[in-house]
Amino acid sequence: MSGPGLRDRRTERSRLDGRRVLVLVCVLILLGALTLWRPGNSSRDSGALFEVSGATMGTTFRILVDAPVSPEQADRIRALVRARLDRVDDLMSAYDSASEVSRFNRHRSTAPFSLSAEVIEVLSLAAAVSEASDGAFDVTVASLVDAWGFGPEERRSGTPDEEEVQARVDFRQIEVDPVSGTAAKTDPRVTVDLSGIGKGYGVELVAEGLRELGFPSFLVEVGGELKAGQRKRDGTPWRVAIEKPVEGIRSVYGIVALVDEAIATSGDYRRFQDTDSVRWSHLIDPDEGLPVRFRGASVTVLHENAARADAWATALAVRSPDEAYALAVREGIAAVFVHEDAGAFRSRMSPVFAERRQALEELDES
Ligand code: FAD
Repeated sequence: MSGPGLRDRRTERSRLDGRRVLVLVCVLILLGALTLWRPGNSSRDSGALFEVSGATMGTTFRILVDAPVSPEQADRIRALVRARLDRVDDLMSAYDSASEVSRFNRHRSTAPFSLSAEVIEVLSLAAAVSEASDGAFDVTVASLVDAWGFGPEERRSGTPDEEEVQARVDFRQIEVDPVSGTAAKTDPRVTVDLSGIGKGYGVELVAEGLRELGFPSFLVEVGGELKAGQRKRDGTPWRVAIEKPVEGIRSVYGIVALVDEAIATSGDYRRFQDTDSVRWSHLIDPDEGLPVRFRGASVTVLHENAARADAWATALAVRSPDEAYALAVREGIAAVFVHEDAGAFRSRMSPVFAERRQALEELDES
């Protein structure tokens, strides 16, 4: 979608590739194939879905609205989606040197730095998940992300000087003050990377905006993070597929029925680096100061808030399967862990996810 005001720089660094959608969006309508209502149709209630899609945050987005949408309303929806996703990009992209977060990262001082309400909100949300996950989620891993080449810059040769880089990784080194709208670094070298929570936050902003426009039944997806609104007009929930964590192929592992809930998946099978016969995933273990070794696994989290689902999926994917399961049980997180085991796929659900078992149609473990 080449909406108005779409700036060139969006085509600049966005490396759209296979990693972008971790969760297949299969909105299945019982009576047959997906019926998408292309913008511009007359506003007749044919039961079709209104769709808006395009590029954002180096990945793609797709919005489905289940309601009759007039051409004027279609324009309002498109403008809202573009404005809210561009806002997140402009504020939080590490790939845009002009973004607010990039300017905060270049602020080599312990003096407080003024930030927008959205960045304050995301940093506060991130800190809450960091505390609850014993530091597994930590946005200050930015220096390690960059050192290993998983960020905007290509990887520098050789292994990063972990001592130097590691010193800057600890979420407690960012002191957020929502009252003054500032954040301060206890170590001026600290930098942040919001890639593990920013997409989910963008999903939340769009979902909130659709409700404000009077469209409560929707499915919003940004780079594999999704949020469903109310049931569809036919009374059915939105159905989202979880993919098998296999590189290079797309196949459905299971289907989750969603109503007013978000779903996010994090895995190590799409973005990785191979060095010295070791495959490193793009997920960083803040304690080790290293990327997580490849396991061929994924974690899917259900949560009412898409930003928290996004952050928790990353946090649990960083930990070993047993540690992650214990963490999900302790914190009451609805998570399903999928991994390959001797050619078959195994899953383990946290108790909160298992309580929803009826919402997870049979898993294809073949
Ligand atoms: P997720 O699991 O959702 O997130 C993993 C990412 O979080 C890692 O890539 C790393 O950056 C970070 N991370 C790793 N370990 C941890 C940890 N322990 N705690 C916290 N965070 C961790 N990509 C581009 O190629 N081009 C762009 O122009 C671009 N712009 C972006 C703008 C914004 C605002 C955001 C939020 C992201 C942007 N991205 C861009 C990154 C891209 O959209 C995805 O975020 C990235 O591909 C990882 O998403 P994922 O779902 O694969 O992994």
